Amino acid sequence: MSQWDMNNDIERVLYSAEDIAAAAKRIGEELARDYEGRTPIILSVLKGAALWTVDVMRHMQYSEVEFINVSSYNGGVASSGEVKLVTDITSDIKGRDIIIMEDIVDTGRSLRFMLDMLMERGAKSVKVASLLDKKDGRVVEANVDYIGFDVPKEFVVGYGLDYKDLYRNLPYVGVLKLEVYAPEHQ
Ligand code: 5GP
Repeated sequence: MSQWDMNNDIERVLYSAEDIAAAAKRIGEELARDYEGRTPIILSVLKGAALWTVDVMRHMQYSEVEFINVSSYNGGVASSGEVKLVTDITSDIKGRDIIIMEDIVDTGRSLRFMLDMLMERGAKSVKVASLLDKKDGRVVEANVDYIGFDVPKEFVVGYGLDYKDLYRNLPYVGVLKLEVYAPEHQ
């Protein structure tokens, strides 16, 4: 392993590439069954849910995909509390079945913001499929319908999840070493 290797920055792996592939298959097949006869809009939340979205939708049937970018994190390890709509969707979702694809639901603020917005715009139904559910982090009510893994209240990176926009391309989800984001602890 060279110095220039992202794997060096990871304390421990929580979910391997194989674990994640199995979860994507399980949830994709469940969605295919639950939405049989309908064409839902998959609403992928950028940037974190990009990988999860494409892996889950491979197992689904007829579906459309849209991307939305909401931010509450500012690229650090703590949520700012304020949710902003950075990039909106382009299509009309009135009367449509929506499946929000999230990487992780923590405080629930981003999800609550999107759920309210979609219902206000007249969505017929809104369900949520998240790779990770950090239930202990919840400060507002926001339910996840399809959960990849229940994750402990730790800051994780990989498979779409970032720290300062890095580590999204790791194939697994892991805990970042403390010295990477808090160098004073070295
Ligand atoms: P919430 O609004 O539920 O607090 O946060 C949702 C967003 O915060 C996620 O989409 C993700 O971008 C970010 N987030 C929450 N927990 C983590 C974490 O452990 N690691 C990373 N990389 N991002 C997180």
